[in-house]
Amino acid sequence: MGKLRGAPEGLPSVEEVKTMLAADPNLKCVVCYARISFDGRAKDAHGVEDQHREMANNARKFGWLIVYRYTDNDKSASKEEVIRDDFEQLVRDLAEGHTLEGYPIHGVMAVNDDRLYRRPGDWERYLRAFTTREGRVYHDSNGLQDLYAEGFEIKGLVGVAMSLAETRKKQRRSRNSHRNRAIRGKSVSAWRPFGWEDDKITLRPAEAMALKKAIRDVIAGASIGEITRQWNEAGFITSRGNAFQHQTVKQILLNPRSCGYREIKGELVRDGDDQPVVGEWEAIVTPKEWFAVVAAMRDRSPSSGIPKGKLVHKYLLTGILRCGNTLEDGTICNNKMIGVRSNSWQKYDHGYACKKTASSGCWGTFKRGDKTDAHIEALVIAKLEAQAASRAASVPEWGQEEALTRAAQSRKELERRWHEGEIDDETFFRNLPPIENRIKQLRDEQAKYLAKKAASEAADTDIVKSFKTRTLTQKREIIKSVLHTVVARSGGKGRKPFDPDLLTPVWRTDE
Ligand SMILES: [Zn+2]
Repeated sequence: MGKLRGAPEGLPSVEEVKTMLAADPNLKCVVCYARISFDGRAKDAHGVEDQHREMANNARKFGWLIVYRYTDNDKSASKEEVIRDDFEQLVRDLAEGHTLEGYPIHGVMAVNDDRLYRRPGDWERYLRAFTTREGRVYHDSNGLQDLYAEGFEIKGLVGVAMSLAETRKKQRRSRNSHRNRAIRGKSVSAWRPFGWEDDKITLRPAEAMALKKAIRDVIAGASIGEITRQWNEAGFITSRGNAFQHQTVKQILLNPRSCGYREIKGELVRDGDDQPVVGEWEAIVTPKEWFAVVAAMRDRSPSSGIPKGKLVHKYLLTGILRCGNTLEDGTICNNKMIGVRSNSWQKYDHGYACKKTASSGCWGTFKRGDKTDAHIEALVIAKLEAQAASRAASVPEWGQEEALTRAAQSRKELERRWHEGEIDDETFFRNLPPIENRIKQLRDEQAKYLAKKAASEAADTDIVKSFKTRTLTQKREIIKSVLHTVVARSGGKGRKPFDPDLLTPVWRTDE
């Protein structure tokens, strides 16, 4: 509480301030008044610390210099018998024209004017002292106000009536208090965060270790899926008692809480100097590690958006290949072929066969898996490329790719310089927001452009390029999105070389 009263830390000396005033006659030296009341019910949530921070933020906006902080704690201004020491001091200093240390007073700040008065007498005395000097400024939640204007004299007379508005102001203050708690670095989460004890401050060692390891693993290339599986296998559960899901783990890894920072709605909470607010809880990793994990997750290709099939197939073309064998009655078999594991002496590990059952199948067609898969993949990729090219041709170019790359590079460069200690945390966090905004803006534009270009199907250039890196399930979805089936005809009895001409894809037509 000490620093919330008196001259703020780092204030230039009276002599220095006088020199500053000589150089800049428009500079205002202001004093701030804060009061926390105790209503007998609950302590005023809007603590003096919050009040002073709000005033400091406003003073910075106006370019005013705060030379003194008056703070009355737990004193109700409405009770006659209560003497508010700092309020009395403020009135005396205003009349004197300077603070005890000798700093001139050119203005007063308060969060609400009801902080200054609850009784008509107080307001009158304050106003009289304030107006002993010309040109003073006054600022509160209603903004800048001219206390020299006539209306303000009678304000004291209606002051009591005005304190009826107190109830409304109290409600407004409690709405602000969630954010203020966050700004002070207090925990605001309703649930116990993974990694911490119920107090949300102390680390829960096993979970904290797991989180630290996960962050480092993801930086090193591990997937969220792997982390999710590891945590579930290790028996960790969420604070709501559930098994971990991909999305939950992702949120935990992205949360700056792990490095001691606080976020609200996905944005870092910053103080008046734009610095991230450091929470009161124990950190698990350094800000640099947290940033690296966010960057690692950001740089990964976005998920394809293709839903996972309920049936997990082991082989690429199971159910996609159909038997093209001509049966004895002259019809085509058309049975869906299945994947079968090869015998150990064969060169390939799987094949596709037309399995004969009571109702269908003929055992008439067999294809070796490796070459069939490779051939169909190549056909599908060529098809996707052709589709993407024809779609791209019909959409005007965006043309901002280079700008986005440059913006991303400057962010990377800024991160690199920070990681290597060339710039300090303060510089880093001051310079980051404009770059991030630029990137966000460009990405939004790009997303709109890509959405246009991608048309209704999930076949764009991106998918073509990354096809090879996709999981089997994703590949199957992509294949099924461009073709109905592949008809496989038999090459005849006995061992024959692989002949791609015996595979006939049936493409879906472009709508
Ligand atoms: Zn068949």
